[in-house]
This record gives sequence, structure tokens and C-alpha cells, in this order.
Amino acid sequence: MSVLRMSSLFLRTLREDPADAELPSHKLLVRAGYIRRVSPGIYTWLPLGMRVLRRVETIVREEMDAIGAQELLFPALLPKEPYEATGRWTEYGDNIFRLKDRKGADYLLGPTHEELFTLTVKDLFSSYKDLPVSLYQIQTKYRDEARPRAGLLRGREFVMKDSYSFDIDEAGLDKSYQLHREAYVRIFDRLGFHYVIVAAMAGAMGGSKSEEFLATAENGEDTYVRCPSCGYAANVEAVRVPAPDERPYDAVPAAHTELTPDSPTIATLVDCLNQRYPKADGTAWSAPDTLKTVVVMLVHPDGRREPLALGIPGDREVDEKRLGAQVEPAVVEAFTESDFAAYPTLVKGYMGPQALGTASASGVRFLVDPRVVTGTAWVAGGNAHGYHALDLVAGRDFVPDGVIEAAEVRDGDACPSCGLGLESARGIEMGHIFQLGRKYAEALDLKVLDASGRLTTVIMGSYGVGVSRAVACVAEGNHDEIGLVWPREVAPTDVHLVATGKDEEVFVAAESLARELSAQGVDVLLDDRRGVSPGVKFKDSELIGVPTIVVVGRGLASGTVELKDRRSGERREIALTGAVAEIIREIRG
Ligand code: ATP
Ligand code: MG
Repeated sequence: MSVLRMSSLFLRTLREDPADAELPSHKLLVRAGYIRRVSPGIYTWLPLGMRVLRRVETIVREEMDAIGAQELLFPALLPKEPYEATGRWTEYGDNIFRLKDRKGADYLLGPTHEELFTLTVKDLFSSYKDLPVSLYQIQTKYRDEARPRAGLLRGREFVMKDSYSFDIDEAGLDKSYQLHREAYVRIFDRLGFHYVIVAAMAGAMGGSKSEEFLATAENGEDTYVRCPSCGYAANVEAVRVPAPDERPYDAVPAAHTELTPDSPTIATLVDCLNQRYPKADGTAWSAPDTLKTVVVMLVHPDGRREPLALGIPGDREVDEKRLGAQVEPAVVEAFTESDFAAYPTLVKGYMGPQALGTASASGVRFLVDPRVVTGTAWVAGGNAHGYHALDLVAGRDFVPDGVIEAAEVRDGDACPSCGLGLESARGIEMGHIFQLGRKYAEALDLKVLDASGRLTTVIMGSYGVGVSRAVACVAEGNHDEIGLVWPREVAPTDVHLVATGKDEEVFVAAESLARELSAQGVDVLLDDRRGVSPGVKFKDSELIGVPTIVVVGRGLASGTVELKDRRSGERREIALTGAVAEIIREIRG
């Protein structure tokens, strides 16, 4: 093992937080000299950062190898054709980096590599006897993220482990998926952060079963819900609201349109209803009695713009992420004044379902919340300025084109699995596993001969870990006000040995302790800087965050050094004789 000497290490720690950083992990990784920003979402790994990255990679590699997955490496620079064959050249829209070679041929920088893995298995394998096989790579990916964020957390260039399983049938895929799931549990346990496994949307990839590993973090971009009663957990994007039973509506009067002046919002509408049109049963109108109609503009990957109307219970907002996940790969844009002008049947502020749906006058696709089942009665826009329709029955007075999961999910909402109340929390997506199915194999014609000699389409799984994101995520979960506190398995070195004072003996003793430790397989960061004050050295050691700090200084005269635990702050004197064994006991537990 090596000794990293701070006297010559390519490192400058900073006292000030970088101006562009908001999250503690981002500030600390820059200040402690692990990474440097080159451009938004693009970072340089400095020597300390490289070590952490390599250690994370090692954990991932060991656990992938342990389930029999085989490592290979594809190029990042890829020709367009395979991505055209699967439709992703267009579907990725603005999210990929495209470039041309000198002859004008199109290339891209790989955002993920399903196509290449599929084609390579097709190249080399032809029989069911070759399967199952799982292949992986640890590689730099490129995505032109709309909002690069928080340093390494959302980069435009980042390191991902992606693996793919190839099986002859569903049972095989289930097994490969399960093996990956177990490997991911071991990887994230070793990385030392708290995480939850949640049901996920399969998203643009197609396919069916899908789960995410989310590191729990207040600052996370993902929201998930869990049920404390039954253990159900899902990314909020994937929550399926339980639909109530359809109900009879014979007793509901015919729909009628009423004047509702000054009621462009749900709150003003409810007030107006209670004043002018009190309910027959004497109960008050409230927001859940109303159906809010929201229209957005979908922009499809091929540039096509399509209006989409949503019918959502009036007490709920549209959740942009849930909506976005449902309409992917299309993106959602606001419906502008000029869009309204182009669709005169849509009356801003007073749109109602009677004018919506592909079979209606507007021809605008109309999708409703799952709670809007046949027989439910609503108050909704009357399609004329200042008017609303009452006793509007789904399935009788309007027929939606389908259902969409776009309404916000709130704490206390019924758990889709047991019906009790859900709780929400935030997290960072660290890993994603999903059963891709046959989409890619079909698009790229990956078939093998089965046991009876027939050509069969191979079934695939796809599994990703954010390797560079993990570095930020571990930092986010392991720090205090003064610096980083790495878990042992990913720390840049095992020990930070600090030599303090002016006495030459101190430096000689520290140097020989470092060499002895290194000979025993311990990685040492040695602060052998001369003329740097003990205060600065201690501050740096706290900022850098190696979990075990050994100080060689004043105690040396009486034959002791100080052993400090970065996490607990606990410190104790140990004898210099036997210090190597004592330090090894400390770090290897
Ligand atoms: P997100 O929803 O966070 O954008 P994704 O679902 O698009 O991620 P996948 O395609 O599932 O990401 O990629 C697999 C893993 O790669 C993710 O679980 C995440 O850990 C990591 N990852 C994805 N995008 C980035 C990025 N821009 N920067 C760093 N890591 C990323
Ligand atoms: Mg994902």
C-alpha cells in the first residue's frame, strides 16, 4: 500500500464554500479537494477524489463479479444507427449529446447502452445453451441534463455501472433480476448509506417490473411514499391511486349549467356554490366535489405538439413529476395564450369535460384521475366564461379518453396495498433495476435457438448504479459541520497520520509509522508538511474526513501518539511501541 504525502500531494483545501454549491456534499467535496468544476455538470477528479471513486468502483465490481456478471467496456462514442433502430435517437430529444464526424455521419455520446449490449450478444451468441448471461461495464455516460445539480449528484458526464441480463424466458429473467437485486443490497450496505427499495416507473425504457434504490436524503430530488403499516414503498411517480368502485347514478339529476360569476379558482367556486346553489342534503360544497380541468401542451420527441387535458379532483394539484413520468418521452410545456387562441372551444378558467375528449368538439385528448370513475358526480367548468356545470356524471355526461396518474399524492392518502395512510419522504436515486422484457431484443432482432430448435426472442433485464453519484451521496450522508466523515470502505485512505510541531524526531517517527502501516497493507495519508501549523493540519484532517486520525506530536517525548476517531471525536493516547497493531485493530474492527 502506498503512503500519500501531503507535502507533495496535488491538493489545495479551501476555507470558503464554492459559490455555486448548495448541498453540503458538493461544498465539502470541493473544499476538501476531491473534485473541481470544469463546467456545469462536468467535474475533474483530483487525486483524493479518484481514490474514493476507485473504492466505490471496487465495491460495485466485487459484488457484480460475485453474481457471475462479466465485465466488459463499450465505447462512449457511438454511431447513431442502433439508437435509431430502437427509436431512442429521437426519443432522447435534447437529453443526448449528438455530434458529427468529418464525413458528416451522426454520432452520440452514450447516455446508456442497451443497444450495444443487445447487438454484441447477438453478434456472439446463437443458442439457448449460451444463456443466461449477465454483462456489465463501469463507464462514463453523457446526458445533457436540463438541470445539472449539486456537483456529482446530477452530472452531464458521470460514471455509471450498467449491466444487462439475457435469458431465454421469464423465469430466467426473474432469477437474473433477483440476483441483481441482492447484489445491489450488498453494494449499498457496503457503501454505508441509508436507503429504501421502492417500486418505480419503467419509464422510457419500456418493460415491466422495476425498482429503485433511493438513498434517504432531505435534499433528494425524488419523492417516495411508504406505508408504515404494510411496508409498501414506491417512488411517487409510480404510485397507483386505488380507484373506487363504479357507482349507480340514477338518483343524480340531469347535468345543468349555472352562472358562477367571479369564480375562476376552486376556492372562489366553492364559495359561490355554497351561496347560490346549496346542496339538497344540507352539507356544504367543498373542493373534492369539483373537477379541475388543466390543459398542458405535450411536445413529442419528433417535435409534434399535442394539447392534453387532465381532469383532477379540485382539492388536488397536478404533480409535475408524476405527469412527466406518465407522458415520457414527451415533455410537458405550459398551454399559452396563443395555444388557447388556437383552440377556441377551450375557455380559459371555465373548461369542462363536456367539451373535452377526442370524440368531442375540441378533439383534445382528455385523461382523468383514477378517482373519476363511472357514476361519480362533479362540478366542473361550463365551457363558457362565468359558468359551471353541476351534477356532471362521469360515464353519462362525459367520456374521458383514459386515466392518468398525475394528481399529487398526499400524506395520509390510502395505501394502494392495504388502504391505510401513506407517508412521504425524499431520496436520491442510487440504483435502478428493471425487467426490460423483449423491447430491445425485438427492435434489434436478438434471437437464439431454443431447445426445440425454434428461434426465440431473448428477454432482457437492465440494471444501473450511479457510481459517481454514489460518491456525492455517501458524502451527503456522512459529514458534519466541519467536514466529511467517510465510511471505512470508501475513505480515500485508511488512516490520516498527522505529524505536528517542529521537532525532526516527530517527522522521522511519523514517516516510519507510515511505512510500517503501509507494509501491513494499510493506506496512509501522511501530513508531513513542514512549517504548517498544527491547527491548519487538524482542520484539514477534519475536512478531508479519513475516519481514523493518528497524531504524532507532543506525546512522542513520552512514547505515545494520539488515536482519534473522526466520527465520534473520541481520542486516546496509545504507546508508539505496538501502535501499528493497535491502529490496525482500530481500522479493521
Ligand atoms: P434520474 O431520474 O435521477 O435522472 P435516471 O432514472 O434517468 O436518473 P437511469 O437511467 O436509471 O437514471 O440510470 C441509472 C443510474 O445512474 C441512476 O439510478 C443514477 O444513480 C445514475 N444517474 C442517472 N443520471 C445521472 C446523472 N445525470 N448524474 C449522475 N448519476 C446519474
Ligand atoms: Mg432510473
